[in-house]
Amino acid sequence: MTYQNFSLKQLQTMDAAHHLHPFTDHKDLREAGTRIITRADGPFIYDSEGHELLDGMAGLWCVNVGYGRKELAEAAYRQMQELPYYNSFFRCTTATPVLLAQKLAQIAPEGISQVFYGSSGSESNDTALRLVRHYWALEGKPQKNIIISRHNAYHGSTVAGTSLGGMSAMHDQLGGAVPNIVHVMMPYAFELAMPGESDHEFGIRAAKAVEDAILEAGPDNVAAFIGEPIMGAGGVKIPPESYWPEVQRICRQYDVLLMLDEVITGYGRTGAWFASQSMGIQPDTITTAKALTSGYQPLSALLVGDRIAARLVESGGEFYHGYTYSGHPVACAVALANLEIIEREGLIERVRDDTGPYFRQVLTERLAGHGIVGQVRTFGLMGAIEIVKDRQTRERFPGDGAAAVVVRDHAIAGGMMMRATGDTMILSPPLIWTRETIDMAADRILRALDLAEADLR
Ligand code: PLP
Repeated sequence: MTYQNFSLKQLQTMDAAHHLHPFTDHKDLREAGTRIITRADGPFIYDSEGHELLDGMAGLWCVNVGYGRKELAEAAYRQMQELPYYNSFFRCTTATPVLLAQKLAQIAPEGISQVFYGSSGSESNDTALRLVRHYWALEGKPQKNIIISRHNAYHGSTVAGTSLGGMSAMHDQLGGAVPNIVHVMMPYAFELAMPGESDHEFGIRAAKAVEDAILEAGPDNVAAFIGEPIMGAGGVKIPPESYWPEVQRICRQYDVLLMLDEVITGYGRTGAWFASQSMGIQPDTITTAKALTSGYQPLSALLVGDRIAARLVESGGEFYHGYTYSGHPVACAVALANLEIIEREGLIERVRDDTGPYFRQVLTERLAGHGIVGQVRTFGLMGAIEIVKDRQTRERFPGDGAAAVVVRDHAIAGGMMMRATGDTMILSPPLIWTRETIDMAADRILRALDLAEADLR
């Protein structure tokens, strides 16, 4: 039985009756009705009413090679026929996770050559948290277990992911976070820089917050600092160039491990395989998921630095952690085919040398001067548009994010799928976007901004 046997109304009724959605106000959803996406091709998605939408979010920051890739379907089909599943426990594994681990070691930053698999970014961050604490225990320092994170960080939605993350609304519903995780200020100059403070100075100050937290806890008690190179779900917050080198220097000074969460930035989005390479950061762990398979299969890979991996091997003893689907052969087969597409089509170079710079140019030239836009910022193919009431003072519209929702709704109605986070519009398109697609997106966003301004003023 397929969905074509049902009308949109029937699907919506069944959805309301049985399906609880992630991050959703269900009262609101049942009043508004669900949008059902039924197919997709290249950069476009189509809903059950036949509307075509340019997908400015690559699904949920993940469909980097775009939709409709038969090669990925075939890779899954072949692997399912040959061996749909076997586990990687008990001294076993299957072939595709091995091949993928080797590939990931080739493309990872220097000093990182080991992989631990999961099925989602949240799971992978859970692994990362447990692994760094286990590492320090094996080093004979079990008390060195505090993790420093940032306010408004997003590291997933499991208990560990939520605890690592800094989203207060999520913490409010948690009923008790994983202990020994502290949060410091985020590197968000647009709202947090002081009058007259340069971006550079602000970046150093934001990094100093990490040092202050280390000193307050005592360096002997701090296991690691975790951060997204660019905070994604929190609003595409691109730190000043001074921030990461200083954070890295501080971590090294106090022998604090550096954990990067590249669930969004990994696999090409910033114009390199990993943002750590774009930004010159040398982390001890890198959490990856999403674009590892371009979202065609659920798969995550925690890339583990040699310092940690060597300790695990030398000390011996079981690391009591893993998932039924760690190294799922079908997901890994799809990941291999996906990485091959990224390489063959030169998508990373394209983002670095062509579409990334063009994206910045077009958004800056066409949108940054709009009456309700306070700032446009981009990095590779990630972008943010700050919605403000007053461009000079950066005063926001009343309603805490309500204005961005007005923009988003006009954008979707005009064929542009984009997301609103707080008062920020965010973009994270598939890496197959061309200059023409970027122009099309800018046209549609501009129209949405005009319509929103007319509504809001
Ligand atoms: N980390 C970051 C930076 C993310 O953006 C996300 C998801 O958006 C996650 C972790 C969690 O990944 P998942 O939803 O696959 O559990």
